[in-house]
Amino acid sequence: MDRFGFSISKGRQIDYDANSRHIAEFISEREPSFRVCIECGCCSATCTTGNFTSFSLRELQILMKRGENEKVRENIKKCMLCGKCTLVCPRGVNTRNVVTLARQAFQKFPANAV
Ligand code: SF4
Ligand code: SF4
Repeated sequence: MDRFGFSISKGRQIDYDANSRHIAEFISEREPSFRVCIECGCCSATCTTGNFTSFSLRELQILMKRGENEKVRENIKKCMLCGKCTLVCPRGVNTRNVVTLARQAFQKFPANAV
């Protein structure tokens, strides 16, 4: 086979049927504003933790809604709960509460549990 110095990226599909959205549902039931996020990224732009690390609340919220929870489980503890993101959110998402509920959900549903 000829090699051209590049490779084709692996397919990247989101399988909503196979993914478990239990973490996102746990949050939505208790904090309905979680549903109205438009993924603008203002929260990440102002984030205290994000200023010093690759932590992105916008990314973590998107992943939870897709049911791709493992990266969120690893990173959600990095939030310092300062609340700056809540102040700037144009949709009025109570992001601080979203983080708090996400932490509760990951305690309630251990890794690999549905
Ligand atoms: S600032 Fe609000 S609307 Fe924008 S990504 Fe963050 S939570 Fe979503
Ligand atoms: S509460 Fe957490 S996610 Fe929001 S700005 Fe502060 S450190 Fe970032």
